[in-house]
Amino acid sequence: MEKRIAVLPGDGIGPEVMSQAVRVLQKVAECYKHQFNLCYADVGGIAFEKIGEHFPAETKNICEKADAVLFGSVGGPLNEAHLPKWKDCEKNSILSLRKNFQFNANFRPAFVYPQLVELCPLKKEIIGDGIDILTVRELVGDIYFGEHSTTNSGNLRSAKDVAEYNEEQIAAVAHAGFQAAQKRRKKLTSIDKANVLDTSKLWRTVVTEVSANYSDVTLEHMLVDNAAMQLIINPTQFDVLLAPNLFGDILSDASAALPGSLGLMPSASLNAKGFGLYEPAGGSAPDIAGKNVANPLAQILCVAMMLRYSFAMNEEASAIESAVRTALEAGYVTHDIFVNGKKLVGTEEMTDAILENLTA
Ligand code: NAD
Repeated sequence: MEKRIAVLPGDGIGPEVMSQAVRVLQKVAECYKHQFNLCYADVGGIAFEKIGEHFPAETKNICEKADAVLFGSVGGPLNEAHLPKWKDCEKNSILSLRKNFQFNANFRPAFVYPQLVELCPLKKEIIGDGIDILTVRELVGDIYFGEHSTTNSGNLRSAKDVAEYNEEQIAAVAHAGFQAAQKRRKKLTSIDKANVLDTSKLWRTVVTEVSANYSDVTLEHMLVDNAAMQLIINPTQFDVLLAPNLFGDILSDASAALPGSLGLMPSASLNAKGFGLYEPAGGSAPDIAGKNVANPLAQILCVAMMLRYSFAMNEEASAIESAVRTALEAGYVTHDIFVNGKKLVGTEEMTDAILENLTA
């Protein structure tokens, strides 16, 4: 198969972890006889430095012509955020991409590796055989996109944020969630607050209607307050969590605490046509950039997600995930996931260990 991929390394650790992800992608191409045409483009501070914009037209053009976008991270040190190079860098880059491509679903996996259970803040008996949750969050509706206003009448200050959903927005993300569940353990838990909110009642109705197309997936509904509690006391019950924008924002960050490091967390944003952008959940980590210590796993796992969700290359995606597990089983770790008794390695050596185990 031949695919064109826009590669946007960005700033900080972005370029160094991206070059490792590209090594993995090239090995997949070799093992499975695919051709991946990589089109590099600048985004973030590096683009601003060269062209004066965080998301230049040429970068947008390259993304539009691609079959998927592999994104690193953008932004500079927090104490330099006022400088023109960094001011609004993340907003200008990522929000422009989201708006341009109308990404309506955000996929955030939280996987606790058995080899790294010590890093999970939960007790071993709660982690059990392992936590493997995919949160699918709606991205273009809900309270973030409704009317916002603040008034001051007399001496009383008031504020209002309107939450709104239409059935098409809900159905679109529900299809994405069910299709993801079909590729996993075939269980979907839909999150809402249907005992109180009208948007949630519509959410529950539409998700139930959409479920008729996916008889192989078990659907359950859960109130968001209960879901927050269940994520801590019984997280292994979850496979796919499907959530509206606000609840998904909160629950996906809560589940992100479980694996133990941002360096382990890939994510994806998909639009209704299935076009996707894949990026690590963490930022540009300027504190460790250029030192060969960043964990490349999040970026490498983004490649696996891209292969699975954009190109339907499930076998190739599983091969990467399995090579990551084997490298961790062999004891290789970067500094962010180091525990006594493990072999501490750098960014490149961690990738070497994965490549050794990556075969067709
Ligand atoms: P951050 O995620 O960059 O770093 C937080 C902590 O996690 C740091 O200690 C960092 O060293 C560590 N970390 C992150 N990724 C790691 C990896 N792969 N391996 C090892 N350790 C890792 O968050 P921050 O420090 O709040 O932000 C730094 C910059 O990143 C800011 O400019 C911010 O705006 C930007 N940012 C960008 C994105 C994005 O590009 N999507 C997301 C979040 C933050």
